[in-house]
Amino acid sequence: MALRVDATLLIRKIRDLRSLTFRRYRVKEKWAASRPKHPPTSLAQQHFDVTYNTQLGQLWPSVRVALLSERKYGALLNHFCNDAFVEDLHSQGCTDFITVRAGLECDSEFEVEKRDDVVQQQSSLPHLSPNIKCFVFPRGDITRFKPARPDMSGLLSYYLMDAASVLPCLALDVHEGHNVLDLCAAPGGKTLALLQTQAIGFLCLNDASVSRTLRLRKVLHSYIPKQLLSQERLRITSFDGTKWAGIEPNTYDRVLVDVPCTTDRHSLMEDDNNIFTKSRTGERRQLPQLQLGLLLAGVVAACPGGEIVYSTCTLSHIQNVGVVEQAIYLAQENHGIQLQVVDLRPFTHMFRNTFHFASDLHLGEMVVPHLAANFGPIYMCKLRRLT
Ligand code: SAM
Repeated sequence: MALRVDATLLIRKIRDLRSLTFRRYRVKEKWAASRPKHPPTSLAQQHFDVTYNTQLGQLWPSVRVALLSERKYGALLNHFCNDAFVEDLHSQGCTDFITVRAGLECDSEFEVEKRDDVVQQQSSLPHLSPNIKCFVFPRGDITRFKPARPDMSGLLSYYLMDAASVLPCLALDVHEGHNVLDLCAAPGGKTLALLQTQAIGFLCLNDASVSRTLRLRKVLHSYIPKQLLSQERLRITSFDGTKWAGIEPNTYDRVLVDVPCTTDRHSLMEDDNNIFTKSRTGERRQLPQLQLGLLLAGVVAACPGGEIVYSTCTLSHIQNVGVVEQAIYLAQENHGIQLQVVDLRPFTHMFRNTFHFASDLHLGEMVVPHLAANFGPIYMCKLRRLT
């Protein structure tokens, strides 16, 4: 009896408390109605467990743990920001993994076996833009970066991104005066890395999504001086990239094709905007087709002799190697364009102390997430137009 009285009192007290909350702030819990029975993150997990178990074998359990753990970021240094934050980053214990690679250049053990299907680039070590700098904490150190601070003119000091995302931009190897197309550019992390080279002659930034293109513009305004953004050397568009072949064929020295994909890490961790949501199943299944269309369009947009980097943030063989294989075949069949695969192993070898690379890919290179270096996944493949 006493218990029942206490319970009644308690309920009354809760009601009193509720009545103190403005009605408009009261939220009615809708468990059954709003919680999906199978959240997209669980669907992604089930899907990856099947496909990556087959694809990666014994490696999958450890990659899975890394994917489900907190990711590591890199701080892409903004050269357009006036204040010197480098000392600050050094004092926190981070290093620029791109400059540190200089110590590896003298590595006498460096030997790469010849592959029949790829062109060797070993006469000299790969050229790296001296202006792209990305700071990371040491292996196994999962300290988070502080939010970037603005300088006197309001430009932010660094951009936080997966450090492995910088690799496709470095691999693109932009030289002085190059015309560059970034076909799927939003929200702009890789664009910022490309702009750091300060070598681009003309840059076209495109993204099919209007809202994401707006985000790209915001990012550019937070990092790049106004006078550079208003110059005629930069164009921002929101076209369907797969149609680019009809817009500007044979035009660009360098093309970055950073396609939409299953974004494995996001799909495993976030229910919002998740491509494994049931209603997006069709879109997800169409991804390889879209990726192929985008890569082919990028190939046609490059000029003969020009170079194209294809990149994704998925481990999926179908979306990576599968797409590149088909693009090489269809470029020849449908457009008479012969492509050469550029061997990126000398390039990735320089960064082997920072990232874990897949060892058994026959086309392209892939950063595989690892608990001690929890970057990626990032896949990239570099193609050169011969005709
Ligand atoms: N490169 C960006 C960066 O580093 O911040 C990330 C690009 S994200 C992986 C892929 C982008 O492709 C999305 O912003 C998406 O809106 C865009 N996209 C999807 N379909 C497209 C299409 N048909 N043409 C051009 N862009 C497309």
